[in-house]
Amino acid sequence: MTMKKKKLMAKRKKAKGPLLKNVTRRNLEKKVRQQTNEIRARNGQLKKGADRQKRSDLKIEEQREDLLHVTRVGKLAEFVSSLAHEISQPLTAILSYAQAAQRMFAGREPELQEILQYIINDNQRATEVIRRLRLLLKKSHPSLEPLNISTVVNDTVELIMTHITVRNKVVKLELDRGLPSIRGDRIQLQQVLLNLISNSLEAMEENSDSRELLIRTSRKDTDTIMVEVRDSGCGIPEENMTKLFSHFFTSKPDGLGMGLSISRSIIEAHGGRLEAKNNPDGGATFYFTVPVDKKDAS
Ligand code: ADP
Repeated sequence: MTMKKKKLMAKRKKAKGPLLKNVTRRNLEKKVRQQTNEIRARNGQLKKGADRQKRSDLKIEEQREDLLHVTRVGKLAEFVSSLAHEISQPLTAILSYAQAAQRMFAGREPELQEILQYIINDNQRATEVIRRLRLLLKKSHPSLEPLNISTVVNDTVELIMTHITVRNKVVKLELDRGLPSIRGDRIQLQQVLLNLISNSLEAMEENSDSRELLIRTSRKDTDTIMVEVRDSGCGIPEENMTKLFSHFFTSKPDGLGMGLSISRSIIEAHGGRLEAKNNPDGGATFYFTVPVDKKDAS
């Protein structure tokens, strides 16, 4: 190669250099950009996956807690049920001893006879409470029958009367005795009433000045009957209003938060509504409606 040719080639190579470099740099930059985008996209996917995982972990955790709660409640019902069984056996024994003593002293010892009669009467009251408690706890399908709601309320209050007086509270009943019948499950409706009453008693616990609990039955309109449980307790804080009927919502340290949600589903299964409101003069009113039995609507 001649000197001239060599110089010419070197010149061309020099001229091409930056061009080549520019092209390779652009390619590289493009590649880096592409790879950065890919990494970003993959990161996004991973983040989404992690979020999804986190959400499902939380859900599992919530479900685990719910399950634990339900198990505890189930266990409690089982426990009360077996306790009721245990108690009913000595009660039967006490009754037969008292009756045997009555027979032994028949016609004699009138004071002793009187005492024995008190024992028998109280024994029968306790046995009845246990019987009703066991009926309440028994898992059974709702059995609908024509009912007078005022009678159901009255029976329920009788069941819990000792509890009310021990707590130094008074219950006022305003029961409309002429109401048409409804179709309902007596035990389930009693369960709702017991829950509303015991919640009211607890709400009145704090303040010894609040004593009165009012239970009223009335006809709301042609097709509907209304039951109100009105207390003079602490009332419901506004922020709790929407949560009251949710599963496991409780403001009590030992609460289960199941009573109101179960009560609402029972009332809804009866075709009614269960609601709550604060009273203008303090305390809360829980009220539910149930439809009149069509056969008795007139
Ligand atoms: P629990 O009694 O175990 O807390 P409930 O479902 O029966 O469960 O009640 C849920 C919550 O509703 C209670 O913890 C309480 O905050 C509120 N509540 C229920 N009844 C009343 C009432 N009569 N007055 C004020 N708050 C009430």
